[in-house]
Amino acid sequence: MCGIVGYVGHRQAAPILLEGLRKLEYRGYDSAGVAVYNDNEIITVKAKGRLQRLFDKTDDGKTVVGTCGIGHTRWATHGEPSEINAHPHMSDDGNVVGVHNGIIENYQELREKLLRKGYKFYSTTDTEVAIKLVDYYYKKYGLGPVDAINRSMVRIRGSYALSLMFRDCPGEIWVARKDSPMIIGIGNGENFIASDIPAILSETRNVYYIGNLEIGRLTDSSITFYNLDGDVIEHEPVTIEWDAEAAEKGGFEHYMLKEIHEQPTAISETMMAYLHENEIRLGDVPESLLRDTQRIAIVGCGSAYHVGLAGRAVLEDLTGIPVDVELASEFRYRNPKLAPNTLVIVITQSGETADTLAALRLSKERGVPVLAIVNVVGSSIARESDYCLYTHAGPEISVATTKAYSTQLIVLYLLAMQMGKVRGCLAAEQVNKMLLDLQALPGQISRLLEDKERIQWFASKFSNARDIFFIGRGLDYAISMEGSLKLKEISYIHSEAYAAGELKHGTISLIEDGTLVVGILTQQALFEKTLSNMVEVKSRGAYLMAVTSYGNYSIEDTANFCVYIPRTDEHFMTSLAVIPLQLLAYYISVSKGLNVDKPRNLAKSVTVE
Ligand code: GLU
Repeated sequence: MCGIVGYVGHRQAAPILLEGLRKLEYRGYDSAGVAVYNDNEIITVKAKGRLQRLFDKTDDGKTVVGTCGIGHTRWATHGEPSEINAHPHMSDDGNVVGVHNGIIENYQELREKLLRKGYKFYSTTDTEVAIKLVDYYYKKYGLGPVDAINRSMVRIRGSYALSLMFRDCPGEIWVARKDSPMIIGIGNGENFIASDIPAILSETRNVYYIGNLEIGRLTDSSITFYNLDGDVIEHEPVTIEWDAEAAEKGGFEHYMLKEIHEQPTAISETMMAYLHENEIRLGDVPESLLRDTQRIAIVGCGSAYHVGLAGRAVLEDLTGIPVDVELASEFRYRNPKLAPNTLVIVITQSGETADTLAALRLSKERGVPVLAIVNVVGSSIARESDYCLYTHAGPEISVATTKAYSTQLIVLYLLAMQMGKVRGCLAAEQVNKMLLDLQALPGQISRLLEDKERIQWFASKFSNARDIFFIGRGLDYAISMEGSLKLKEISYIHSEAYAAGELKHGTISLIEDGTLVVGILTQQALFEKTLSNMVEVKSRGAYLMAVTSYGNYSIEDTANFCVYIPRTDEHFMTSLAVIPLQLLAYYISVSKGLNVDKPRNLAKSVTVE
């Protein structure tokens, strides 16, 4: 998920690696390291925290001698951010050294296998396991790097961009990838690798894209590709036309749009972390907690609070447990009454949100267990909670959250399903059916994203709107709140989300000729109810956009603009319905020429009250 850079050529490698890593700093990371081959040895230097510490430790790379090396900035997913967990990692005898982006899903099982074979582990990362697995096959078969790597690839489940050096192979860098990006830069008497184009853009614009489940070998003068069978394959070089800024955004105009498009992958990775052979496994959350909890209080701020609102509907429905959802800033000062068998769930992207942290501490003081849903490994909330379920969204740069929100939902769905199962509210077949629907979400989101131009066209008509309202009932109300927040954050248009049935108690007086009202209708049982409310506002002049599922075509008689989302289990509808709303907010902001990624007055991580 974070940054990889590699260099082999005639120049000193370490300064080039560090400069490359600097270009990837924008992504966020918690530690960094380099490994350089010199004189039959691979020297590794690592540092926790800012990359500058690695610059300082190595005198800007000058003290690390050698012309072939790899570097990494880590965004921890397995094991806290620390120097020991920082990459590169190495095999016990230092024969194989490597860096990795992504997640090795079955690292526990592989670790146990390697422990039985006599391997020792110094870190808590999944990466160290992958490196040692390569070393194991390298020694076992004695057939060289290609065979060692492809045998490991067959055994590893998950996503990875791996870059390796072997002590027996001076002047060579090896790469392998599955579902995690990696490119090879072509130089003159030198070659490069990078997980992202900006890292090497100042050195070369000629690159190879290495395919999924392929291996690459680089020397200063050659680049060879292999498939999983070990056969040599060919690739055509590509010239990168992007400027440096476009490259950072992966070719998207803004980080927000890039992150919207990363949602299918982020959701898949989060699911993969908790699904093992179609069984939900929630890390160290004990089954007794899932069984004995009598009440749940979900606490969060902003979008995380909206995830809680959606989560409440799902949890109550699947488990029968009463759920309260509260804003962390209210909860902490309200002197909340927490009955003994209450589970507090705190939700936060950064894991540093001040109000949420205070709510966590208060709950712990009151003696109730706290489960955190957090994106940043090793953050304060991850450390202080009793149980932590990470979302695997990767670094989120845009202030307005998209992929963190979507992955938080996934964790709550899995939690609700597992609780429902353990408590006997859900039969195994029901869970299996829901899992199928869950696993289809990434593909369904990708398809929704293909239709983004339609929303762009619609959004451009409303860039001058003064007020935009979102209405829905039940889960659709929770979705409305997120859609409305997204819009106001980045478009500066006043917006409110209203429970559709509540309109007539006040808000309806705000409807004027042409006011845009977005109706969300994903819950079949409430479809007609919300539809009636849409008719009510339409008769007072509102212009209507509707988000509903395929098949509900009668909506066309009422709404002026309709977006259809695929059908899935109704509990998961939030994950699909939010996509057009994110796009609507994004494109309105773009058409107003605003700073989409850094809206005024807002910060990414709110570490103050
Ligand atoms: N899963 C690996 C770790 O936690 C790699 C993280 C990354 O992609 O930076 O070390």
